Amino acid sequence: MRYISTRGDQTERSFCEILLEGLAPDGGLYLPVAYPTVDAATLARWRGLAYAELAFEILSLYIDDIPAADLKALVAKTYTPAVFGTEAIVPVRRLGDSGLLIEALSNGPTLAFKDMAMQLLGNLFEYELGRRGEQLNILGATSGDTGSAAEYAMRGKHGVRVFMLSPHGRMSAFQQAQMFSLQDANIHNIAVEGVFDDAQDIVKDVSNDLAFKRQYKIGTVNSINWARLLAQVVYYFAGYFQATKHNDEVVSFTVPSGNFGNVCAGHVARMMGLPIKHLVVATNENDVLDEFFRTGTYRVRGSAETHETSSPSMDISKASNFERFVFDLVGRDGARTKALFGDAIAREGAFTVSPAEFSAIAGYGFQSGKSTHADRLATIRRTDERFGDLIDTHTADGVKVAAEHVEPGVPMIVLETALPAKFAETIREAVGREPGRPAGLDGIEALPKRFTVMKPDTAAVKAFIQAHCAD
Ligand SMILES: *Cc1c(COP(=O)(O)O)cnc(C)c1O
Repeated sequence: MRYISTRGDQTERSFCEILLEGLAPDGGLYLPVAYPTVDAATLARWRGLAYAELAFEILSLYIDDIPAADLKALVAKTYTPAVFGTEAIVPVRRLGDSGLLIEALSNGPTLAFKDMAMQLLGNLFEYELGRRGEQLNILGATSGDTGSAAEYAMRGKHGVRVFMLSPHGRMSAFQQAQMFSLQDANIHNIAVEGVFDDAQDIVKDVSNDLAFKRQYKIGTVNSINWARLLAQVVYYFAGYFQATKHNDEVVSFTVPSGNFGNVCAGHVARMMGLPIKHLVVATNENDVLDEFFRTGTYRVRGSAETHETSSPSMDISKASNFERFVFDLVGRDGARTKALFGDAIAREGAFTVSPAEFSAIAGYGFQSGKSTHADRLATIRRTDERFGDLIDTHTADGVKVAAEHVEPGVPMIVLETALPAKFAETIREAVGREPGRPAGLDGIEALPKRFTVMKPDTAAVKAFIQAHCAD
């Protein structure tokens, strides 16, 4: 499989060529030149496979520059019950007679769905860097889930170091403990005295210094990485097989969304021929995406308009993966995609698709809805009371919106993107008790912490990277 940019550059690249890259050189995102489609016989065969085997089959369709035996081994060591807690890896459970099902994607090491992709990325990076004899210094900013997932995926990996910036004192005690208790020599936590945007600005500054970036081999693991998106396609298939008995049945998915990475993987699965009726995008108060699917206008928000909510991993001002869907929506017209994202967004911070484009959205199965703090609390409480099922705040946004879109005879699968233990404060507010923690995580707040506090100063962060590059 070859990959091209969404903004018109037709240069074709292989999977491993784009694996360690961020944006394409023209500023677009990478997508396969065409989605491979899956016929009925293949779908029937896949139904019986274990998760790692299924992952291998799907990844093989997109990766032709890693020998099959190596890819199989990488996938097999990634998706194990030891790492993800169950034989099924992504077990699906029913919420009573509501017509809703929950697919658990958050039983990995950091209790959020980002582990599903990041754990594979860690193994792919180590493999590819080893093959090239290269090193990579991953630089990122996090307010929680992404940073911890990246660190747990990259800890102890050869050829990779992680420099993760976070706003000092602003993550939850649990999230800090998760990240700062890592003692691996290749993991560096930098607590910036400022807010998330200060940390993010430093990462941008460093990345814009091309000479520094090249000399110190700076890379990222953000959600636009194609390999992350690809890894997520697998659990749409796995969820479908668990929720149905035969491949002539259709299901819908509701996806708690921020950067549109998770639900974009659902779009890819549907384009491959998985029988998905609707892909329901659930947002919180940061409703950039809900607004688009209702009106056809995509308007990015400024930081003053970006709300801090109780489902914080969905607090985004723009949806960085959204361009991939729009590229398909406009008939894979790179010039049109560039006019929308490169020009209109840069000029006005917004665009509106044409009436014809807007009416084409339905053909891709997309629907949307939004949820607020009050909805979240009510949904967590009601799901706990009615079904004895305690869900996290992001999943609650999904369940709230899913209930508004469920249709008779069509199983509605809500993706569980985090465990309630990660967001204890809101859970207490909703149900008046403490969420349980998976075994082994009790008392992690008391573990010794390893982190460096710094002023929000790009030069200081660069000096820190230089000093630790030889470790
Ligand atoms: C990252 C995250 C999301 C949003 O996923 P996107 O791929 O950005 O849409 C939702 N819930 C949780 C818990 C997350 O960590």
